[in-house]
Amino acid sequence: MTDINRLVRENVRKLIPYSCARDEFKGKEGIFLDANENPYGKLNRYPDPYQKELKARISEIKGIPEENIFLGNGSDEIIDLCFRIFCNPGKDRALTFHPTYGMYEVSASINDIELIKVPLTDDFRIDMVKTLPFLDDETLKLIFICSPNNPTGNSMNPEAVHGILEKFRGIVVIDEAYIDFSDQPSYKTLTSVHQNLIVMQTFSKAMGLAAARVGMAFAQTGIIEYFNKMKPPYNISDINQKAAIRSLRDIDSAKRRIIRIVAERNRLEKALVMTGLVEKVYPSDSNFILVRVRDADLVYSKLLESGIIVRNRNRIIQGCIRITAGTPAENNRLIEAIKRLKS
Ligand code: PMP
Repeated sequence: MTDINRLVRENVRKLIPYSCARDEFKGKEGIFLDANENPYGKLNRYPDPYQKELKARISEIKGIPEENIFLGNGSDEIIDLCFRIFCNPGKDRALTFHPTYGMYEVSASINDIELIKVPLTDDFRIDMVKTLPFLDDETLKLIFICSPNNPTGNSMNPEAVHGILEKFRGIVVIDEAYIDFSDQPSYKTLTSVHQNLIVMQTFSKAMGLAAARVGMAFAQTGIIEYFNKMKPPYNISDINQKAAIRSLRDIDSAKRRIIRIVAERNRLEKALVMTGLVEKVYPSDSNFILVRVRDADLVYSKLLESGIIVRNRNRIIQGCIRITAGTPAENNRLIEAIKRLKS
């Protein structure tokens, strides 16, 4: 058993959170003279600070009780909150598996937290031999596991994820931003078993709402309560809550789009290998693929000249560029441009 309070920074444990007007009065009817809002206009009222309607819909779809859901202004806000809740600046440490999503490192730096980067194996799996020595370290508070991983695209090896969950007494964050493009099961139901587990998902990828900035965290109430204490009172705008609710009303369309994107990703994988320019396509459980070419900088700049913007990952994984699956027409343009580069 992990005592979550033991892992929380002392100032956060003692924190008396801001109590907003809508914390005191929760009804919908009446004359609202409590929050210094403007009585005129369409967007004049503060949004629901706890996003109850949206959480109720997410709860039905994900099968996670509402009290075990936290919503952030994108997953990026949740990543930052993890550091601020659990890590003492200048003292505690966090761990990631390199290469991975860049915001873990940026958030660690912002919060003055040393980040341990354990290299993934050559086929981008978690190396337990390299990881084990860190798991007993009392200063290590957070481990981020990105699965499927950005920028490599693959899912992390489940036996390593389970091994970490068994052995580590700090907080394990599994970032499942791309889970809906994968055949692998989510770890979200394990949050009912592990007190120290946070599983993150987002509306930015499969739900197509990157502009709305809605990220989800699933965890036991011990952790959710700290997230709620720490967040700015109105962290998700009313417009964005409504956009997310709307997207969930038509979940079938979202599922159809996911199937289309995965089919396009698979088509891209084959077509890019056929061009002869791409030396390797790494297996992907995501909506993007990582490919290796002889000269990534050159391919990147040539594609840019054709008006096609991909992500040059050459500095992180030598020779690699990351390509998001677009519409069939966009992907055709990419394939043609790469064929031209080869000839
Ligand atoms: N996690 C991963 C692995 C990502 O790749 C991204 C965005 N690229 C995020 C989180 C951020 O998601 P959000 O838009 O919900 O902040």
